[in-house]
Amino acid sequence: MSKLSDSKVITCKAVVCWGIGEALKVEEIQIEPPKSSEVRVKILYASVCHTDLLYTKGFPAPAFPRVLGHEGVGVVESVGEEVTDVKAGDFVIPTFMAQCQDCEYCVSGKTNLCLKYPLPLSGLMPDGTSRMSVRGQRLYQAFSCSTWSEYMVADAIYVLKIDPSIIDLPHASFLSCGFSTGFGAAWKEAGVEQGSSVAVLGLGAVGLGAMEGARKQGAVRIIGIDKNEKKRKKGEAFGMTHFINPTDEENDQKSISQLVKELTGGIGVDYCFECTGAPHLLNQALLATKMGKGQAIIIGAGNHPTVEVSSLPLLLGGTLKGSVFGGLKPQTDLPVLIEKCKNKEFQLGELLSHEISLEDADKAFDLMKHPDCVKILIKL
Ligand SMILES: [Zn+2]
Ligand SMILES: [Zn+2]
Repeated sequence: MSKLSDSKVITCKAVVCWGIGEALKVEEIQIEPPKSSEVRVKILYASVCHTDLLYTKGFPAPAFPRVLGHEGVGVVESVGEEVTDVKAGDFVIPTFMAQCQDCEYCVSGKTNLCLKYPLPLSGLMPDGTSRMSVRGQRLYQAFSCSTWSEYMVADAIYVLKIDPSIIDLPHASFLSCGFSTGFGAAWKEAGVEQGSSVAVLGLGAVGLGAMEGARKQGAVRIIGIDKNEKKRKKGEAFGMTHFINPTDEENDQKSISQLVKELTGGIGVDYCFECTGAPHLLNQALLATKMGKGQAIIIGAGNHPTVEVSSLPLLLGGTLKGSVFGGLKPQTDLPVLIEKCKNKEFQLGELLSHEISLEDADKAFDLMKHPDCVKILIKL
């Protein structure tokens, strides 16, 4: 392992999506050495997030061929000469958000977006190039990097050093996006108060994270909504107090907001978290909140440019807002979550439903359709 980026191009395996609707392929690709502000990481574990599926549909822009994966954990193989925060041999997780701690946005306390290092939507490094190629053709990355690959390069500002003695590596991977997004939404974005009522639409890793965050904040009523009956048990492990299956026979004539109101004396919840990305559920989330003071927080990514929203709840004072990564700042807030893991304050192991090898990662989206599926771990 070398300090400087005098290391050579690495040939390794990665999961490539060649275009919208095309089957994933495990390919041999080339990874260049890191440039001066970058790190090259050997990935040990990656995990599957719903947004990976959206990439294959052209979200946020149709940039192909693309190496998937934005959740993971690995060990730094080499660093560029300007990198001082991490060194070869350090364990890191990628973060698709960056925090320069210096720009107008970072110091505002009002957003976790950074002006200097924006959310990387182009699929390229901050300098507009890529460190990955396949048979000489440029490969796009997921956000700040690609984790479904034996190696990846990221700008050092987009990784967070972790201590593997205090957190299981698979759990660290889960914290790099989905669960943290939900947890952060309840903790940082909404600031759920003691005694609140909360509803969560969609009990995947993001929704379960939102429940756990709400529980930690002292919410007393936490309603989980999912079409999948198997999510009932999962929800209970993360603090759910009531479960609604909208496809149950007695529920099928009622909207989700109606069902939530039935459980809350007709007035709705203080906070509703929309974690599915389904366009019509955004309005249902708003309608499920208390008139005048409820907040609907949209954290599920969807591939739809516009949605229809009822204006009356907003005119009466309700709030509809969205958040990326649950409002968490990667360098200052993620270590707080890691500390909670160390103290066994939540059961991240409950998220794990499938474990596969990189060679089988082309089947990840088929596994995702399985009713038992919450989190797929890719072992590299
Ligand atoms: Zn900044
Ligand atoms: Zn994600």
